[in-house]
Amino acid sequence: MIIVMLGAPGTGKGTVANLLKDKLKIPQVSTGDIFRKHIKEGTRLGKLVENYISNGNLVPDEVTNEIVESRLDDKDVEKGIILDGYPRTVNQAKELDKMLKKRNKKLNLVVNLTTPEEEIIERVVNRRVCSNQECKTVYNLVLDPPEKEGICNKCGHELVQRKDDNIETVKSRLDNYFKQTSPLIEYYEKQGNLYSTVVSKSINKLGKDVAKDIIDYLN
Ligand code: AMP
Repeated sequence: MIIVMLGAPGTGKGTVANLLKDKLKIPQVSTGDIFRKHIKEGTRLGKLVENYISNGNLVPDEVTNEIVESRLDDKDVEKGIILDGYPRTVNQAKELDKMLKKRNKKLNLVVNLTTPEEEIIERVVNRRVCSNQECKTVYNLVLDPPEKEGICNKCGHELVQRKDDNIETVKSRLDNYFKQTSPLIEYYEKQGNLYSTVVSKSINKLGKDVAKDIIDYLN
């Protein structure tokens, strides 16, 4: 099962992917997480991508494509993968099609999440993420706070705020989403594997509700 998570920042891609990973027992691979790990460890790749990320810009396609392609050959993704935050440009989507074809695999589902723009900023600045890389549970201080302040309910590790989760950066991330990523909706609509849904407090639908809907849809 190969799933792609599509959506503007703050729509809940990571939350939904994390829940689907537990249900479907296939790994969640987030290009953003891979980049953040490299930045934290100070690797060459980390140094290369740091400025793009802190300015809210996309990392160049060649760099991102190469990372995903090599991840596709890892043993743990043999049965499937949830791509969280990749592809983000039409060029990346075309490359992914080629990568999958080469491996006799096909994309089963593209989950497209949309959230009213006025909610996005609130969701992003209140987001906190579990620092345990094996857990990575996402919380929202307003919509879905942890039971104990600053601590993950699931594993007890510290919750952290991403450096790029601030108002200035989220504005350019949103801008880049509309310019570079949103054309993918039409791209996948044409391929016939798009599942679009709204995530919004105004209709009482959060990431966990969407994850349940998707599981029902797949069964
Ligand atoms: P995310 O954790 O998915 O919000 O990604 C954080 C940041 O990593 C993005 O704002 C981009 O700068 C970079 N990034 C993640 N995935 C991609 C991608 N597929 N293509 C280009 N840049 C990416």
